Amino acid sequence: MSVDVECWDQIICRNLTGETIKPGRSCLEGARSLLGLFKERDIKATFFVLGNVAEAFPDLIRQIDAEGHEVAAHGYSHTPLRNLTPTGFKEEVDRTVSLLTRIVRKPIHGFRAPEFSITMNTLWALDTLVDYGFRYDSSIMPLASSRYGIDGFPFGPARVHLDERSIVEVPPSTAQALGRRFPVAGGRYLRLLPYQVIRGAVRQVNKEVGPYVLYLHPYELSTERLTCRSFPCTVPSTQAWKTEFLWNWRRERIRGKLLRLLDEFRFSPVREVLARAIGN
Ligand SMILES: [Zn+2]
Repeated sequence: MSVDVECWDQIICRNLTGETIKPGRSCLEGARSLLGLFKERDIKATFFVLGNVAEAFPDLIRQIDAEGHEVAAHGYSHTPLRNLTPTGFKEEVDRTVSLLTRIVRKPIHGFRAPEFSITMNTLWALDTLVDYGFRYDSSIMPLASSRYGIDGFPFGPARVHLDERSIVEVPPSTAQALGRRFPVAGGRYLRLLPYQVIRGAVRQVNKEVGPYVLYLHPYELSTERLTCRSFPCTVPSTQAWKTEFLWNWRRERIRGKLLRLLDEFRFSPVREVLARAIGN
């Protein structure tokens, strides 16, 4: 079970206007509501936290840690690696790791790149992660796509060797259907696919490669309509309408599907699953 701790307004402003804005309170509320749900269902998860969210809400990160979840890193500003130089990436990792370790006072073992953006062109990022002591990464989508992914990458956890050193890669889950491979770990797939399809995908992943990797975002379970209206960045109205429609469509169904998944399957933080699966 994993959560990418980032804010909807930040992601939309960056994607549509290129502006970087500070995380807002809705992000904090979304994350706390997920924490409440996990507590109620006795679930522990891995929270991949954005550096700028940790900077704005250090108490939230302390709460995540205090409630027994794993705190991991998601970069500082949610810039995809294709838009960063190796030096820029190193600066992002450096800033995020020092913030997180200062807040939780323990080493950070896991990393997930914004938009799963470790591809063949940005594989250099794994070296930086090893330099910073990361034990695992969860950024490589094991399929061919124009947006992300490495075609032919193992579908389940695998050790990636880098000269003398290595890191474990935990790819987001994908499943085989209609003669091709589809991402099924979260995001729009969790929102749009019927529960029976998701359940079938989880069973397929469990059978084929072991653990199913699920990811959620704090804003996905919010009961309020996501809207660009109160944004600190200016989104043109036609883009705002389209964005709101796409992100709100069937979003109210995520909660029910998540609850059914929690009823049917057992979930743990990435670190714990890896320790059981490959002794990492
Ligand atoms: Zn993200």
